[in-house]
Amino acid sequence: MTKHTVNIIGAGLAGLSSALTLARKGVHVNLVSPMPSERAQSVMAEGGINAAMNENDTTREHYEDTLKGGAFIGEEGSIEGLTNAAPSIVEELIKLGVPFNNENGKITLRFFGGQKKNRTAYSRSSTGKIVMSAMIEAVRKYEAEGLVTRFPHHGFESLDIGDNGCKGVIIRDLYSLKAFRLNGPVIIATGGMNSLFPGLTTGTTVNTGDVTAYLYSIGVPLSNLEFIQYHPTTASIEGKRCLISEAARGEGGRLMILKDGNPWYFMEEKYPELGNLMPRDITAREIILNSEEGFAYLDMTALPSDTWENKLSDMREEIISLLGTDPVNDYVKISPGIHYFMGGIYVNEDHGTSMDGLYAAGECACRYHGANRLGGNSMLGAIYGGRIAASNISYGEDLISEVDQPYEYINFHAPSAITEPLVSAVGIIRDGKTMQKSLDTLMNIDTVDFKTGDKRRLLLAQAILTCALSREESRGSHYRTDFPEKNDEKFKAKSVITYSGNKHYLSYEVDK
Ligand SMILES: Cc1cc2nc3c(=O)[nH]c(=O)nc-3n(C[C@H](O)[C@H](O)[C@H](O)COP(=O)(O)OP(=O)(O)OC[C@H]3O[C@@H](n4cnc5c(N)ncnc54)[C@H](O)[C@@H]3O)c2cc1C
Repeated sequence: MTKHTVNIIGAGLAGLSSALTLARKGVHVNLVSPMPSERAQSVMAEGGINAAMNENDTTREHYEDTLKGGAFIGEEGSIEGLTNAAPSIVEELIKLGVPFNNENGKITLRFFGGQKKNRTAYSRSSTGKIVMSAMIEAVRKYEAEGLVTRFPHHGFESLDIGDNGCKGVIIRDLYSLKAFRLNGPVIIATGGMNSLFPGLTTGTTVNTGDVTAYLYSIGVPLSNLEFIQYHPTTASIEGKRCLISEAARGEGGRLMILKDGNPWYFMEEKYPELGNLMPRDITAREIILNSEEGFAYLDMTALPSDTWENKLSDMREEIISLLGTDPVNDYVKISPGIHYFMGGIYVNEDHGTSMDGLYAAGECACRYHGANRLGGNSMLGAIYGGRIAASNISYGEDLISEVDQPYEYINFHAPSAITEPLVSAVGIIRDGKTMQKSLDTLMNIDTVDFKTGDKRRLLLAQAILTCALSREESRGSHYRTDFPEKNDEKFKAKSVITYSGNKHYLSYEVDK
């Protein structure tokens, strides 16, 4: 009997969520990723996942906070679906075996940035690892039944496109270097575009963003690329940024700048209502604007010992081992670092792209987070988006064949000729002159020595700058000194950028 098949590229939270949804319906899934699921970035999530499950909270308030946090350009209908589904998603994770912190069986919810209610469910300070273990186990059951075929150590190469859209995908075994064609529709779940920002992100550079760059180069539209989240509390370690989760502030950690040797708890003074738990875009900006040196301290010295033991134990160990500071006794030096890409592959409410048979979910897709993502909403968005994509995609016939396609090594880091101009222009504080200069540089780069992957990355970098330059206002994570105010009349909309005939085309759209 012919098996119905869907191909999923990426085996993090979004990919696993799609796989589980499809396998439960009896649909066969090919699950492709360069690293096994145990090493996906989702495993690194610490702080938790949002769901309005407290008696004093409602899904409506979660919806409103998400929309507001995203500066009112997230998709309202989809955010409603996301926030309504959140409590049942957490309940399901509990059924799959996730031991969320609880008191007498009642789940404990912590405060997270940009939210007035405590609605972040967590499992000590290793939520991602524990949630991923449960999802991996759940998928494994279907693997044993033959409904899930894993292709670990395989990378995405290209789509197989026919008259009616996407009809398959070419993948490459990264050990044998053989290439294969998998028949059927495709869900992309490959995470953020970290390789464009080497050394500056808290995420893994295994998530190169190359699939997003490839799709852009063949005319698939992307959206909201200008919105890049800088997490306020990261620390520099060799080759990357180490995250100190918002959970630290959710549990009472305070941001402080030393002024003439005296501690100044600037967030509490400037934002009395939410204080240290203001949304990430505002908090990161305040650090840069108020500290002459560009850094601040996280003061966790007053946290009670049971908070360290029961809620933040892994975090304490990590800070000691990576930064050499014991946060129980000393202030931790922090500065903002890139943490999340709100923009990505433009998907509709079904998570379909502009191409039939091609869907996207998780951090690589753009739908829920508008101009700034709230902490704890991304794991939620990955699980929910993975489900929606899987529920709407059609199926293909299960066929696999070896193909003859030359191999081109893909670097985890974009060449510095791309990243340096990009990075210098799309920081926390931006201005038109710098962005224009960088865009001009990137439009005139000599690409003779560039491999195909880097040519695509160049297009993606040009697209990010085009979006950032064109948005002549400040909204969410996009803050411009030359346009410091929001301009709702012109820009209360998502940016949509398409590459066609060697040109970038940008428009602004509001969902009807
Ligand atoms: C340190 C850290 C802490 C975080 N904490 C939280 C938190 O507490 N709460 C929260 O909500 N969010 C948090 N986030 C964000 C959240 O973890 C991610 O946004 C989310 O897990 C993304 O899931 P995903 O499935 O889209 O991507 P990922 O989990 O990144 O998975 C991507 C998959 O795609 C594969 N892949 C990549 N490139 C290719 C390719 N070319 N071909 C084939 N496969 C490819 C990867 O191997 C991987 O399997 C955190 C992020 C970081 C970095």
